[in-house]
Amino acid sequence: MKECLVRLLCRHRHKKKLFLFLDYDGTLVPIAATPQMARPSDQVKQILYCLIWQKIPLAIVSGRTLQDLESMLPLRGIYLAGGHGGEIRFPDGTVTFFRNRRAEKEIDRLFSWLERLTETHRGFLLEHKGTSLALHFRQVSDARSFQLIKQVKDAWRKEVESSELELLEGRKVLEFRVKSLNKGNVVKLLWAQCPGTIPVYFGDDTTDEDAFRYLRDRGITVLVNHKEKTAPTAARYRVKGPEEVLYILSRLAGKDLATIDKSDAFGGKEEH
Ligand SMILES: [Mg+2]
Repeated sequence: MKECLVRLLCRHRHKKKLFLFLDYDGTLVPIAATPQMARPSDQVKQILYCLIWQKIPLAIVSGRTLQDLESMLPLRGIYLAGGHGGEIRFPDGTVTFFRNRRAEKEIDRLFSWLERLTETHRGFLLEHKGTSLALHFRQVSDARSFQLIKQVKDAWRKEVESSELELLEGRKVLEFRVKSLNKGNVVKLLWAQCPGTIPVYFGDDTTDEDAFRYLRDRGITVLVNHKEKTAPTAARYRVKGPEEVLYILSRLAGKDLATIDKSDAFGGKEEH
């Protein structure tokens, strides 16, 4: 499939410019035990730099905060959409925030409740991201997480009607997110910035499905997940994991990565 996608993307690229949209965790960088451990390799950074250098529009679309994305990828000249689009940095450095005070208060309240609920359960990781809230349980066995996750979902069912939030179940994570913020809306907004381009979206999880649905008849959609083959998806193509995404991106960049001077892209901030 990866060679087939390389051919498809290169063929399209000859006709029109591509606009690359990439999710971060599980797509660009392998899933790690904790979000802070999922750092981009030098190879990832070099490939992204190559794509920027070639002036291919590039957006990283993630549920992480913008601040978090900026620290992981200190790159200039790309779109960074954090918090599922709640905070977007444009290539010229301007930042737009989409605020929903009522939803943010709800997130604060939920955070306090989940903090109390999980304090005696080892391995659960709670992450307050401003426009969303994530409960990670990657480090907890299924047997141990089952009861607590059920309790959270049962309690949520009573709130859902009146809430400004929605619950998404991802890969070993429950995420409460502001309803109007989703990756489909992010893609729609950013794609409008580069008319005439063909959007290409790579993503690995439930939250990427909004983007897959929006782009279904508009662009090229790729699910990055070979393990859960039966899981329904609106993506048209499928690759095995971040290593295949990287391979495809490097072929698109068409550069000898070893010869690239990346100091300009990282403003000398990176330690190598
Ligand atoms: Mg992901």
